[in-house]
Amino acid sequence: MAKWLVGADGGYSRVRRTVGDGRAPTFLGTFSWWGSATEAQLAAAGADWPLPLRGPRQPITRNATYMPPGNRLSTTGARNLLTFRTPPCEGPGAVDGDEGAGRDVALWYMESQSAAMAAEGVDPSPEGPILRHAAADGGAVALARALRMASHLPPDVRAFIAATPPQRVLEKALHSHPLDQQEHSSWTNGRGLVLVGDAVHASGRPDGQGGNLAFEDAACLAAHVRRHGLGQQAFDAFAAARRPRVTAIRGDCKPPFAVRKALVDGSMFEPLWGPQDLPSKAELEGELLPELGASQNAEEAGHGHSSAGTISEELKRKVLAWSLRRCWAIADRRTGGLMLAVPAAEQVVETEQKVQPEKQAMTASVRA
Ligand SMILES: Cc1cc2nc3c(=O)[nH]c(=O)nc-3n(C[C@H](O)[C@H](O)[C@H](O)COP(=O)(O)OP(=O)(O)OC[C@H]3O[C@@H](n4cnc5c(N)ncnc54)[C@H](O)[C@@H]3O)c2cc1C
Repeated sequence: MAKWLVGADGGYSRVRRTVGDGRAPTFLGTFSWWGSATEAQLAAAGADWPLPLRGPRQPITRNATYMPPGNRLSTTGARNLLTFRTPPCEGPGAVDGDEGAGRDVALWYMESQSAAMAAEGVDPSPEGPILRHAAADGGAVALARALRMASHLPPDVRAFIAATPPQRVLEKALHSHPLDQQEHSSWTNGRGLVLVGDAVHASGRPDGQGGNLAFEDAACLAAHVRRHGLGQQAFDAFAAARRPRVTAIRGDCKPPFAVRKALVDGSMFEPLWGPQDLPSKAELEGELLPELGASQNAEEAGHGHSSAGTISEELKRKVLAWSLRRCWAIADRRTGGLMLAVPAAEQVVETEQKVQPEKQAMTASVRA
C-alpha cells in the first residue's frame, strides 16, 4: 500500500522475502549461543568468573577469549568462546530485577562449526529456524548443547557457563546473504522498495562490520534522497553507490582474521574529524570566551544571572549554534556538499525539547 518502503528489518528480512528479490539468508554451517547471568546467579550456582576475570571489580568491561591456537573469532575457528565481565548498568535491577543492581554482569558468546558439533554428537542439522532454541522455552536445550560444545574448556569456564539461568540462553543458526547472490535488484525492486543493513547484506556473524555498514547505508540513503528527492531515482543511486563498498568490506570471509582485518582497515573512512575542526583562537576569543568570561565575572561579583556550575542560556545557545555549524560543515564535507542550509540553533533546541519526554520514556523502557 505504501508508495515508498525502506526495509530495515534485519538479516531475515520479511520485507525482502515478500516484496524484494525473495531471498532468505543461507545457513553458514555455524551455530552461536549467547548467555548472561548476574554475579548473584553465578554465586548461587557455586560458580565463579573464569580465572582471567577474577579479582576486584573494574570500571571497564573485561573479557577472556577461548579460541583455537593462532585464531580469532572467524569462520576458521571450529569452536570459539568469548566471556565478559561487565560493570553494572546505571539504575536499579539492570538484570533480572533487583538482584542485578550494583553487581557485575556476566556475558558469554560461543560459536561452533557443524563438523565440531557432529564430532561431539550434537545435532548440527542445517534445516530449521534461525532462532534455534529461544530463551523463553528452549533455553535449557540451548544451554545443554552449549555445554557439550564447551567440553574441551577448563573446568572454571564450564562451571561459569553452566551457572547461566536457562531462560537467559539463546541459540541461533548463523545465516548470511552470500555476496555472489547480490544484484542491484537485491537492494531495490525498482518499484519503490529499498533495503538497508542486514536485510540486504547480513554477514551472519559478529565480524565487527555489520552495524557500521548499516549506519553507512542509512547516511548514504539520506544523502541520495536529499539530492534526488524521495523516490526510485534516489534508491537506484544509493544501491549503485553502496554495492562496491559493501562487497569490498564484507568480501570473502574465508581468509584468516588478520588478513581480513587489514582489508577492513584499508577500506575505512578517514577520521570523521580532526584538530582542524576545533574552534580557532580567533573564533574562541571573538565569540565564545568573552561571553564565558562575562558570565564568570558576573557570578564572582555575586549578581550573575547564572548560578555556580552552570552557564547562561545565552552562552548555551551560542555554544550549541557553534557546534551545530561545525558538525554540519563536517557532514557537508564528507557527503561532498550534499547538506542543505544549517538549521537555526533554536529549531534544534525546540526539536530537542520536543523529543526529550520521548527519549526519557524510551530510556526507562530499555532499563525496564
Ligand atoms: C554477537 C554479535 C556481535 C556483533 N558485533 C558487531 C560489531 O562489533 N560491530 C558491528 O558493526 N556489527 C556487529 N554485529 C552486526 C550488527 O549487529 C548487525 O549487522 C546490525 O545490527 C544490523 O543492523 P540492522 O538495523 O540492519 O538490523 P537489526 O539490528 O537486526 O535490526 C532489525 C530490526 O527490525 C526488527 N524487525 C524484524 N522483523 C520485523 C517485523 N516483521 N516487523 C517489525 N520489526 C521487525 C527487529 O526486531 C530489529 O529490531 C554483531 C552481530 C552479532 C550477532
